[in-house]
Amino acid sequence: MDKFKTILLIILLNGIAMSQNYDFEQSLYYNYEFFKEQSLQNRFFKHSDIVKLISNLQKKKLFEVSVAGKSFEGREIFLLSVGSGKKKIFLWSQMHGDEPTATMALFDIFNFFSDTTHYKEVKEFILTNTKIYFMPMVNPDGAEVFKRRNALSIDLNRDANRLQTPEANILMSVFDSLKADFGFNLHDQNHRYSAGNSFKSAVISFLAPPINYEKEVDDVRLNAIKLIGSLFKMLSKYVPGHIAKYSDDYEPRAFGDTFQRKGTSTILVESGGWQNDPEKQFIRKLNFILLLSAMKQIAENSFQNIPTSVYESIPFNQEKIFDVVLRNLTLEKNGSKIKIDIGINFEEVLDSDNRTIYKKATIEDIGDLSVFFGYTDVDLNGYKILDAKTYNEKSFTIDELKKIDLTEFYKKGFVNFILKKAISKEWFEYPANLISNKKDEIKTKIEIGARPNFVLTKNGKIDYVVVNGFLQRVDENSAYKGNGLIKK
Ligand SMILES: [Zn+2]
Repeated sequence: MDKFKTILLIILLNGIAMSQNYDFEQSLYYNYEFFKEQSLQNRFFKHSDIVKLISNLQKKKLFEVSVAGKSFEGREIFLLSVGSGKKKIFLWSQMHGDEPTATMALFDIFNFFSDTTHYKEVKEFILTNTKIYFMPMVNPDGAEVFKRRNALSIDLNRDANRLQTPEANILMSVFDSLKADFGFNLHDQNHRYSAGNSFKSAVISFLAPPINYEKEVDDVRLNAIKLIGSLFKMLSKYVPGHIAKYSDDYEPRAFGDTFQRKGTSTILVESGGWQNDPEKQFIRKLNFILLLSAMKQIAENSFQNIPTSVYESIPFNQEKIFDVVLRNLTLEKNGSKIKIDIGINFEEVLDSDNRTIYKKATIEDIGDLSVFFGYTDVDLNGYKILDAKTYNEKSFTIDELKKIDLTEFYKKGFVNFILKKAISKEWFEYPANLISNKKDEIKTKIEIGARPNFVLTKNGKIDYVVVNGFLQRVDENSAYKGNGLIKK
C-alpha cells in the first residue's frame, strides 16, 4: 500500500475527508507528503537543483516549458504552463533570492498535477477552467548566494518601472503577454512579524496591493480582496490567529502594485515564521494548500460572495517577536537589584558553501518586554545574571573540544575556550565560544548590540548558561544545541 492510500485509509477510518462534505483543502493537508518534492529539503537549493526537476517535468509533457529569458549571470528563467481553460492565473516566486519557500511549494504543485491517479476530478475541473502559468525562481543569481537582490545588487521589486535588470524585464514582458486574470506574487517575510498585537507569529501574510497612494479599490483589486478573504477563512482552520496582512502602503516601483494597476487581480503571499520550522517546511505545505485552493476557487468563481469585511478584519503585521526573550532576570549593579527582560535576535550568516548558515546573536532590547514575546520565551524569575568566564588553564584543538564534557565546564561558568591554533572559521557547531588568539578576551556586556554570553544563577548555583544567545540548562546536555562564535 503506498503512502497516499495509507493516509487516506486513516482519514476514512476517522470519517473526516471523504464524507459528503468532502473538503479538498483538508484532504490536501493530510495527503501533502505524497506530493512533496523530496529533493528540496531546505531553503538553500540552487538554480541547478530546479533545472533538473524542470527537465524531468518536460519529459512528462503535461506542462509546456519554455525559457522566458536569462538572468544577468546567464541562468535560465523558466515559464511553465498547464491547463486549457479561459481564466488565466500567473504565479511567480523568489524574485528575492533568499525567499525560497513558495518555490518549494510550486514544485510540490507540479507533482500534484503530474500525478495521474489521485484527485482526478478536481484536477480536471481546475485545468479545463483555467490555464496556469508559473515562473519559479525569478532571481536565480540571488538564490545562488542566498541574497535578496540580483547580481547587480538591485532589488527587482523596485525595478518594475525602470526595468533595468534582465529579470524584471522578463517578468514584465511575460506579464504583458499573458494579461492574466489573477496573479500570485510569492515572497518570504521576516519570521519575527506577529499577526497584529497577538502573541502569534504571522505564518502567512496576504495583501491585495494598492493601485495608488489613496488605496482605492477598483474591480480588479476587489477580486483579490475577496479571494484573500476566502483563503484567510480556509487557512484559519489550520493556523488560527497566525495569518496577517502585509503593509498596504503604495509602492509604485513594486511588481504587485504595478500588476494590480495594470488589470490583473494580484495577491501577495508572504511566508513568515513558525515555531520550530527554521527551514519553513510547514509553511511550504501551507503555500501548497492555499495556492491549490485558490486555483480551485478561481475555477469555480466561488469566492465572489465573500464580503470585503473579512479582508478588512485580517490584522496587519506587527513587530512583536524576538528570537529569544529571557524574563525577570536580576541584574546587580552598584549594590542595587534591577529586574530586566532581555530580547535577543539571531542573525543568520551564510557559510562559504552558500548552503549552510550559522547564527550570530545580538542583544536587541533590555527592560520591560512584557508587550513582546519570543520563539524561545523563558521566565527566569529568581535568577541572577552574571558574566560568563573563559577557561584559561588549557588550550584545545577543535576535536578535543568536541569530546569534553561541556556540562562540567558550564557548571563552573565557563562558556569560552581557547584554541591551540588560530583558525579562520567564524563559528563552531557546538554551544561554546572559542578564542583563536590567546591574548583576546570575550567580555560580557549587558548592553544593546552586545553578544549575549552569560550565566544564570540561583542560590549560588549555575543552572543555565547563555552562549551566543542559546539558552542551555547545564544539567541537560543531551539538549544542547546551537553554535558558538570564534573570536579572532
Ligand atoms: Zn520579497
